[in-house]
Amino acid sequence: QHSKSIDGALRARAQRVIPGGMWGHQNSPRLPAGYPQYFSRAQGCRTWDADGREYIDFLCGWGPMILGYGDADVEAAADRQRALGDAMNGPSERLVELAELMVETVPHADWAMFSKNGTDATTACLTIARAGTGRRKILVARGAYHGAIPWCSPSVAGVTEEDRAHLVYYNYNDVGSLEAAAELCKGDLAAILVSAFKHDLGKPHELPTVTFARKARALADSADAALIVDDVRAGFRLAMGGSWETVGVRPDMAAWSKAIANGRALAAVTGNDRFREGATRIFTTGSFWTAGVSMAAAIATIRKLSAVDAVAHMRAMGQRLRDGLDAQARKHGVPLRQSGPVQMPVLLFENDIDRKLGDTFCLEALARGVYLHPAHTLFLSAAHQEADIDKALAVTDEALAAVARL
Ligand code: PMP
Repeated sequence: QHSKSIDGALRARAQRVIPGGMWGHQNSPRLPAGYPQYFSRAQGCRTWDADGREYIDFLCGWGPMILGYGDADVEAAADRQRALGDAMNGPSERLVELAELMVETVPHADWAMFSKNGTDATTACLTIARAGTGRRKILVARGAYHGAIPWCSPSVAGVTEEDRAHLVYYNYNDVGSLEAAAELCKGDLAAILVSAFKHDLGKPHELPTVTFARKARALADSADAALIVDDVRAGFRLAMGGSWETVGVRPDMAAWSKAIANGRALAAVTGNDRFREGATRIFTTGSFWTAGVSMAAAIATIRKLSAVDAVAHMRAMGQRLRDGLDAQARKHGVPLRQSGPVQMPVLLFENDIDRKLGDTFCLEALARGVYLHPAHTLFLSAAHQEADIDKALAVTDEALAAVARL
């Protein structure tokens, strides 16, 4: 495949001019051999790789696609702003409109700030918490992903101990470990950082328990520290008001990115009035952070998500997929274990140490036109319709049959 295909030719050229051919988790050698590296286009819930093969996409660009690739309403709003101006000397009116819309949509939010990537937003939350409290320590769940710079990178290459000097780790959903970590930081606790739910790579996903969420809120309150939800991955998929609305706990700040502009580069921090002063004092900016096109896209995205009740739709489609897969796994007698919210599932197999079952399943599905990932959170979107789910299920039935033959 590689030498003759467009994908293979692009990889060969990339090897010469891009370190390792590609960086990060998007580097396809991290996926089972057979996955494409390059894509040529995307529409609705479909993607086409560089060689023209079509897939029903359950990765959604790793989350940013939520209304469908090329959504007409979002693209029209982006086009209108593009004709007016994008990156200018300062923001357009869209900035204020979008901040107002975030404050209106998200119950904990009294204010919003914008940047480009999830890492910008999670990092800003920490900086604001430290500025606002005058303290240093941040509690972070072991194994949780919050971005790709030294304080949070999953790799230690090029990272010093000092980059992580004031992080103290706890185990997600483990109240005792959270209490112990808070105790270690007594007098110096700036923030407790929590993922929307536990969605570590290659591990079963876990929703936060109400007990854990309430304890996190109570510990932050008693230490006068910030509770921060990293909603970069889950934002607007579980609830329009932020993912912890589902457990009835409001953070002081939340980090957003991925889906908020339906695929345009945008991130946001929302926060309450307790942290407005800290947010005012920090210095943060970026060359493209005030650009209007992605903000226009975000306004259109958020309005449409609310108008069509996208969360309910994604939940229904996710449930249809989960029920279908569960029935197929039982029929074929394969140990598929689905976890996470139905609209953001992870598909893992029990005792699949070398990931032979997972890789086989995903490659068999890929060959038949369904794009899954063997270890990462998957994403449903408002563009996935019953017919797409059913078509995908016809494929997974054959893919699970192949797993059963192993
Ligand atoms: N937090 C979470 C929960 C994420 O899933 C991600 C991205 N996968 C990030 C932070 C970092 O976002 P970005 O890659 O846009 O910097």
